[in-house]
Amino acid sequence: MKLKTFRVPWLPFGFDGMALRWVILLKNDDKGLIEHELIHIEQQKKHGFIKYMFLWFFNDYKRALFEAEAFKYGQKYSDDRIIMILVKNYRISHDLAAAAVSIK
Ligand SMILES: [Zn+2]
Repeated sequence: MKLKTFRVPWLPFGFDGMALRWVILLKNDDKGLIEHELIHIEQQKKHGFIKYMFLWFFNDYKRALFEAEAFKYGQKYSDDRIIMILVKNYRISHDLAAAAVSIK
């Protein structure tokens, strides 16, 4: 399946982007955001889409790892900034967020 991207005016949970298997939904054209979502597409391929979605929603540590990787290599944010985002926007505890960003 060929990857498709769509601009959308709204996404749930206050997200700016969303990757779903072969579709990327974006609220803006920020290059870092697109890279971030492409990393999620790769994560979904690696784990399988259903397993990925299950882990993302129900396993806080896996969600922290997925997002830490996407913010680190997508937006290239600093570790401190990623920890702050994970705690504030992704309901990750500070300890889990710190553990997730420390994995290189
Ligand atoms: Zn993400």
